[in-house]
Amino acid sequence: MTSSSQVVIVGTGVVGAVIAEECLDAGLEVLMIEAGPRVTRAEIVENYRNLPLGAKPDATASYPPADWAPHPFFGQDYLGSTGPDTYNPTYLRYAGGSTWHWAGTCWRLTPEDMQLRTLYGVGRDWAFDYATLDPYYNKTERALGICGPADPADQWPPRTRSMDYPMPHLPLSQGEQKFTRVMQDKLGLRNLPVAQARNSGTPYDDRPACCANNNCVPVCPVGAKYDAATALKRLEAKGATILDNSVVYRAETGEGNRIAAVHYYDRNRGSHRIAGEHFVLACNGIETPKLLLMSADDRNPAGLANSSDQVGRNIMDHPQQGYTFTVSEPYWLGAGPVVNSGIMETSQGAFRSEHAGAYFRLNNFARNRFIAQRALKSGKVGRALDEEIRRLTATSVNIVSAHEMLPDPENRLTLSSAKDWLGLPKPSVHWDVGEYTRRSSRDYSEPMVARIAEAMGATDFTPAGGKFSTSKHIMGGTIMGNDPADSVVSGVCRAHDHDNLYLPGGGAMPSTACGNSTITMTSLAFMAAEALISEAKGA
Ligand SMILES: Cc1cc2nc3c(=O)[nH]c(=O)nc-3n(C[C@H](O)[C@H](O)[C@H](O)COP(=O)(O)OP(=O)(O)OC[C@H]3O[C@@H](n4cnc5c(N)ncnc54)[C@H](O)[C@@H]3O)c2cc1C
Repeated sequence: MTSSSQVVIVGTGVVGAVIAEECLDAGLEVLMIEAGPRVTRAEIVENYRNLPLGAKPDATASYPPADWAPHPFFGQDYLGSTGPDTYNPTYLRYAGGSTWHWAGTCWRLTPEDMQLRTLYGVGRDWAFDYATLDPYYNKTERALGICGPADPADQWPPRTRSMDYPMPHLPLSQGEQKFTRVMQDKLGLRNLPVAQARNSGTPYDDRPACCANNNCVPVCPVGAKYDAATALKRLEAKGATILDNSVVYRAETGEGNRIAAVHYYDRNRGSHRIAGEHFVLACNGIETPKLLLMSADDRNPAGLANSSDQVGRNIMDHPQQGYTFTVSEPYWLGAGPVVNSGIMETSQGAFRSEHAGAYFRLNNFARNRFIAQRALKSGKVGRALDEEIRRLTATSVNIVSAHEMLPDPENRLTLSSAKDWLGLPKPSVHWDVGEYTRRSSRDYSEPMVARIAEAMGATDFTPAGGKFSTSKHIMGGTIMGNDPADSVVSGVCRAHDHDNLYLPGGGAMPSTACGNSTITMTSLAFMAAEALISEAKGA
């Protein structure tokens, strides 16, 4: 059995997969260790098909966790949440990770998003600027196959790109076109086509073009949407070894506080050790800090990479609020991907010194699966029920406001005293979306949604009532910075405390902006890969 590798990558999600491929292409030996099982698309589609109606809208219900690799799953108590708000993101511990069930929306950050402290006196600045990140965004867009608008005015951020998208954006559905017109004409707001990791007109990366099944979440049945599972066979063909059903529970330090090995449990609870020269933890924003805290040793009593006491702190997401209402004229949403457009300009402005920005999207989920139960509850039967389902499918809409939030050290992941099947501690997060975000909802985003609803002809708009849900874009727990005293990783995601340990992905992000952030996480993975490769080659 393999017991060592030049590069050891823990996690086979998009971040791990991107780094693995870069290292393989550079001629390095790569071993990937993955907690969860390898499954086929057909199995997940079958799981989805067999779900009861009430569970279908749940993104994770088609992915029951393995005993040894628990992830948040409805009905099971895994990720704890304390504090004034509830933190309940979902993510997957399956080979290929959470992009199995992502929507694929890929908004870049703006230059301003990376300089909150300098420009608005709040939050933290990034360790580098937008111009530094731009080439890695370009790489990500090519690697994942991201389609997006060709017109620079329709791009986000507008007119800042150094390369075109590899594919044109997908067409907007009839309802989205109507929404775009109404927003422009009545409110002067631009509803932009989403850049998304989905093949638009033609096959790309050996994957077919989107054929508009409209169940991207929980799974794209044809693989038109990028997910990291689609990359794993290619990585193996390039020479990677992938160990699945192998849960890393400790990283071991050696000379000079470098990482010497990682230890994992197989599904029979047998323990194994893998030595290496370069290590990457790519287990996402919850499991990576958890693993660092679990790896405390005599040299690092507060956990690995944690001399700053920032590991697990500053956890962030995009607190969002959903508004479902009925409109007087039919919109007939649901043709094409589930998220296909968004209003981004509302995320920017001098107001950010006072409150968070927000972005607004009209979800393009076919409405029938959400409204069928509501129609049944109305007591109607036969033809009347049919007509009610048809009416609500055409006229029910869902607008989401997604907010940025600031890093707060008190929003902290800790190890709970509760244990999982392997006897490992479960994670728990203290969660408070913060006054910066709350004020945005109260004074800015909710009044804006009320105006949007009115412009659309809403007949039953109801305010969100101050409650937030999570967007599942987990950020901040291994935060980036130039000062090792108050950050965990450098600008290339190398741990300040361990020269050969990289912690790329959402955990490194010091600001969230409003848009879905996996494109930024992946760009950080490309930056980390470049640094790791040059270190491995002694450059
Ligand atoms: C419903 C949903 C919709 C989303 N939509 C979007 C979207 O539209 N746009 C967007 O930008 N983002 C979206 N996201 C977020 C996106 O899925 C994540 O940001 C992204 O997948 C993170 O990638 P990652 O590689 O860091 O982590 P993951 O994809 O979670 O991969 C981590 C990997 O590490 C493995 N692992 C964990 N612990 C261990 C361990 N101890 N040992 C070994 N392996 C381990 C896991 O099994 C997994 O394979 C969505 C998320 C959800 C849940």
